[in-house]
Amino acid sequence: MSRFVIGNWKMNLTLAEAVSLAHGSVKIAAKHSGTSIVIAPPLPFLISIREAMGIIPPNFYLASQVVSAQPEGAFTGDVAAKQLKGIVTHCLVGHSERRRYHSETGHSIGEQVKNLLAQGIVPIVCFGEMSQSTQKIFSSQITTDLGQDLYGLKVEEITRCLFAYEPLWAIGTGHAAAPGYVHKATVHMKQWFEKNYGDAPIVLYGGSVNEQNAGLLGSIKELDGLLVGGASLHAKQFGEICALFTPHV
Ligand code: PEP
Repeated sequence: MSRFVIGNWKMNLTLAEAVSLAHGSVKIAAKHSGTSIVIAPPLPFLISIREAMGIIPPNFYLASQVVSAQPEGAFTGDVAAKQLKGIVTHCLVGHSERRRYHSETGHSIGEQVKNLLAQGIVPIVCFGEMSQSTQKIFSSQITTDLGQDLYGLKVEEITRCLFAYEPLWAIGTGHAAAPGYVHKATVHMKQWFEKNYGDAPIVLYGGSVNEQNAGLLGSIKELDGLLVGGASLHAKQFGEICALFTPHV
């Protein structure tokens, strides 16, 4: 199975910088045909990037960072899944920054997932301990919270999502979770999915991934991919991470 490396550009870059980085990311994808490379640029740049890229390798995908929980209507500033259709193939859902600054909750996350799947867009559901106090102690509370996010979704819907485990204390801090910790968390989550939904989906890790830790994270055979924030803003760094996090053999 192909592994994933996903770049979340957040609210960074000008249009010209974003188009240039997208070209750089396409070249990285062309070099690593065994890895699925996904980039999530800022929303207003998606169409320009898509048009500027021309022919793209089959392992390269565009994602949105955001989608509304509503299907359409009077929701100023929001974007509906059906408006993203044809532009992106993937979309981040429930990123900790959305939960923190936009109060996104379990119910809204489930609705976003449903709307995306109805349009054939793959949700990348982000989750992880939100509390700094649980720092570096892996807690089964994580899957209890995730169960609330997924409440009301059908098994068939859940198994079509990608899941990104992102402990809050590791995001943007420069302190990634240790590989042993990521291994334990990944195995725990896959077992939880199997027990509750009969299948283990794709599980990624995110939080201060860089070229120093990507190789070690790559050696965790249960881990299906990485979600990269800051380091995805530099083509050289992002390319090195992709090279180090080699495909499953
Ligand atoms: C993220 O925002 O999803 C993330 C993982 O950020 P960073 O890599 O910068 O910690």
